[in-house]
Amino acid sequence: MKKIFLLIISLINILPVYSYDIAFPLDKNITLSDDGVFFVGRTDKKETLWINDVKVKSNKNGSFAESFKLKSGENIFNIKNGENSLILDKYVVNYVKSISNETKLVEFPIQDYKTTVDNVILRSTPIDFGMNRLGYLPKNTDLQITGFKNEFSRVYLSPDLSAWVFSKDIIPEQRENTIVGEFRGENLKTDAFSETYSYRFSKNLPYSAILDNNLLQIEVYNVANRPNEIFYSQILLKPPYCYSVKMREGLLNISIPNVDINHPRIVIDAGHGGLEPGAIGCMCDLEKDLNLKAAKAVKKELKSRGYNVSMTRSSDKFISLKDRVNYAINKNGVIFVSLHMNSIPENKNPNDYRGSETYYYNKFSQPLATCIQKQITSVLGTKDNGIKQASFAVIRPTEYVGVLVETVFLVNPEDTKIYKSKDYYKKVAQGVSNGIDNYIKTLH
Ligand SMILES: [Zn+2]
Repeated sequence: MKKIFLLIISLINILPVYSYDIAFPLDKNITLSDDGVFFVGRTDKKETLWINDVKVKSNKNGSFAESFKLKSGENIFNIKNGENSLILDKYVVNYVKSISNETKLVEFPIQDYKTTVDNVILRSTPIDFGMNRLGYLPKNTDLQITGFKNEFSRVYLSPDLSAWVFSKDIIPEQRENTIVGEFRGENLKTDAFSETYSYRFSKNLPYSAILDNNLLQIEVYNVANRPNEIFYSQILLKPPYCYSVKMREGLLNISIPNVDINHPRIVIDAGHGGLEPGAIGCMCDLEKDLNLKAAKAVKKELKSRGYNVSMTRSSDKFISLKDRVNYAINKNGVIFVSLHMNSIPENKNPNDYRGSETYYYNKFSQPLATCIQKQITSVLGTKDNGIKQASFAVIRPTEYVGVLVETVFLVNPEDTKIYKSKDYYKKVAQGVSNGIDNYIKTLH
């Protein structure tokens, strides 16, 4: 037995081994809905790799990225060590065009419905995307529905205002009185930790709470004893403008925390983890591992600057987006920084995408995004792709100032050199910490 084993081992050593790794596609047989695919990976510097009739151009460190157009149906990609030589690997990429199922708006007179779950998102447009969130409705909120479009239902708010909820989150309801709600009074409670404004209504009603500069504009709809059926109020907020809004049993509570702006609590979030690897780099690195190393370096640097810092994860484990958010809120986090490394859709060319970008959702988080973006690009020396507003779950809460940093593009051979350099983590730590320092100066 031992002899056979040794024989096999020595045979492997004798055979010429072509050394390369394809980091993406992850599978040898994949189906895509867009008309392109990229291959990224690494190859031995001394050897040339071909993908079909394309000679792979690899970087100094061996990393490469090539992108291809797809024809409808099956596309075969042969990995070879010469134009006409032996096939080392075969990838099958199926391109199946997705069918758009956009439907027309169906309108009808008011019908009574109610929400069946908590946190039903009230949106200004019938799209599950973008900056269209007005408020979060609890279970058993009475709604008046006047139409359907795609997977959304149109909610009547006032004679000239409507909004949208997912149709799956509501059911028809028999109501005796179609005049929905009434305003019953308001109250302010102050303690050492927060200020809470409470507005009482006869039942749960659709509402919106939107921060306009430093004024939190609150509207509650279907209120019979208010002009145009809208109850309106506004609250003046101070930096850093964090707040929480909750409607429960007819009570709309708006809570504004007392923040120590000199010593804000910071939560660092290492993106992905456990079964969720995130993006994969040319050199086969997994984003989750690099994010964790970066997060640990950031925490260490911030602690050395005297901040109170905690991390949503400090090991390689899966944490849902909701749990990351809840962790930060329960920790009374004021600043939340999620660390990621960027990826691109399969039909784009990885060579065209490099650099850093920082995302925010709430307007009041924009200054933090600006400060971190400026520092991270200058310290890392990456291309500055600017700050961007996007609806990512971890940066949506209004309870903290939240940003998501994409330090580099993992699949880009040029950026690979940056994140593979030995002081990468130290530089990320400095960039994020300098950005936070500068942001805190703006709060005074
Ligand atoms: Zn990520």
